[in-house]
Amino acid sequence: MAMRMSSLFLRTLREDPADAEVPSHRLLVRAGYIRRVSPGIYTWLPLGLKVLRRVETIVREEMDAIGAQELLFPALLPREPYEASGRWDEYGENVFRLKDRKGGDYLLGPTHEEMFTLAVKDLYSSYKDLPLSIYQIQTKYRDEARPRAGVLRGREFVMKDSYSFDLDDAGLDKSYQLHRDAYVRIFDRLGFHYVIVQAMAGAMGGSKSEEFLATAENGEDTYVRCPNCGYAANVEAVRVPVPDAVDATAVPAAHAEDTPDTPTIDSLVAHLESAFPRSDGRAWTAADTLKNVLVMLVHPDGTREPLAIGLPGDREVDEKRLGAQVEPAAVEAFVEADFAAHPALAKGYIGPGVLGSEKASGIRYLLDPRVSEGTAWVTGADTPGRHVLDLVAGRDFTADGTIEAAEVRPGDACPSCGHGLEAARGIEMGHIFQLGTKYAEALDLKVLDEHGKLRTVTMGSYGVGVSRAVACVAEGNHDELGLVWPRALAPADVHVVATGKDEAVATYAEELTRELEARGAQVLLDDRRQASPGVKFKDAELIGVPTIVVVGRGLADGTLELKDRRTGERRELAVATAVDDILREIGQA
Ligand code: ATP
Ligand code: MG
Repeated sequence: MAMRMSSLFLRTLREDPADAEVPSHRLLVRAGYIRRVSPGIYTWLPLGLKVLRRVETIVREEMDAIGAQELLFPALLPREPYEASGRWDEYGENVFRLKDRKGGDYLLGPTHEEMFTLAVKDLYSSYKDLPLSIYQIQTKYRDEARPRAGVLRGREFVMKDSYSFDLDDAGLDKSYQLHRDAYVRIFDRLGFHYVIVQAMAGAMGGSKSEEFLATAENGEDTYVRCPNCGYAANVEAVRVPVPDAVDATAVPAAHAEDTPDTPTIDSLVAHLESAFPRSDGRAWTAADTLKNVLVMLVHPDGTREPLAIGLPGDREVDEKRLGAQVEPAAVEAFVEADFAAHPALAKGYIGPGVLGSEKASGIRYLLDPRVSEGTAWVTGADTPGRHVLDLVAGRDFTADGTIEAAEVRPGDACPSCGHGLEAARGIEMGHIFQLGTKYAEALDLKVLDEHGKLRTVTMGSYGVGVSRAVACVAEGNHDELGLVWPRALAPADVHVVATGKDEAVATYAEELTRELEARGAQVLLDDRRQASPGVKFKDAELIGVPTIVVVGRGLADGTLELKDRRTGERRELAVATAVDDILREIGQA
């Protein structure tokens, strides 16, 4: 049935919503696709629901094509399975928890590994039942700290999640590859520009992991890629190549010096340059200094643990990289009260003396991999106004380990070939990873193998942001006038606009719509009698159906106008051949 603008549940807005930060959010609200209910919680209006359903259909078709079977779990889940996997606590504040009338604990599912694992355990017991891939397209709930950009980052959102179950690693590799191929087809059909990057496995544990990022300037994820060898990774997953040990025998013994009033890296470098010029004439730079950054980790059980990170002074700690490393702990700032509780820490002059092997502070100390064996540094002497020079890693101090928390910068060496990396931003649209046996072990999912022995099943987990895809496609497909949908996702195939008060125009527009629909096209018909042509054209541009057919003045001469919303091109169609021409235009001839 055609959608008619005269009765469609829709009000387009001329003004931008006040809370919209990005174009997709602005336009989806203005064009009447979504309405905000509460932060991160949105209603899908008829037009929006059409697009959402089209995304779902594409995802469903490609999942079915690899033999995955659809099922549907509840969103309201009991605590116990999540308790057993450890995630009731690990998920922290991101989970919506609630109680039933008897005081029992429940949650609204943020992701469903536990439920899938238990379902297979419930029904299957033999290797003969494997491999198995099952999936659902379902509403998820996450109490995101920063819901953002409409449905791009919601607190209620639609995800397709699938899980594979195999007897061994070779089987898992195969299931993973099947999903990866399906994802390539899904994202090609959705019309994304995307990259596939190496990723962190995150809260879900496991090993091999890749993300499908839609390239977008205002995306929340930063990734790097190597123009030389094709390496690509989310910055969270970048491993800094560990330098070979340097021979430090020529470096003089470490010596503490007065460096008055140098609490910042810049002030320290300026002071070094004037008070300790290097004999070989090289200028001091921030990269010669070792800075020690303190943060407070908050573990799932609520315990707070200070953490010191030593890194070259020319680099900042990257919050997301750090977060990914310490997960499930959350990272908070190390505040004045924390310094007060650790009097050994001389703010602005903290060094490995107090953090390192001496353990005078009792604080865990982790180093950037660049602070490697034999490298010499200028760093805090743990006394206000003093720094140590020629302090050699491994010789003069050690730490409790290394951490990948320093920012990754364009030009940094590619971990795979050494060439300079490029950086760009994207939106995470899909995530696939090999979970391995983490959930099967936690929930005791075993099957009998061909020798009658019990074996733990190995799993993969694969997600697509279905509702996010709507925003993401809108983000990549709009202009100053409105949305410009790719054909596969538009709320209709053709937008027929009837203009003027002429009865013949209205009658013909109805007839054209009927014929197009009879031939399988979905039509949005602007049959409003009161709206001016100007208003109708503006709405058509805002709504963004890629093919617009205007029935108006030309009808008397036997012509219609076909407008391509994407290119702005217009051409005349003869009424006699219009239906076929339009069907050819939309690829449904
Ligand atoms: P992000 O890093 O963006 O928070 P995530 O890594 O936590 O996402 P996954 O658990 O991998 O997300 O979920 C699978 C997919 O679900 C993601 O790739 C993304 O497309 C989508 N998704 C995740 N969180 C949200 C959200 N809050 N709103 C909409 N879609 C989401
Ligand atoms: Mg992810």
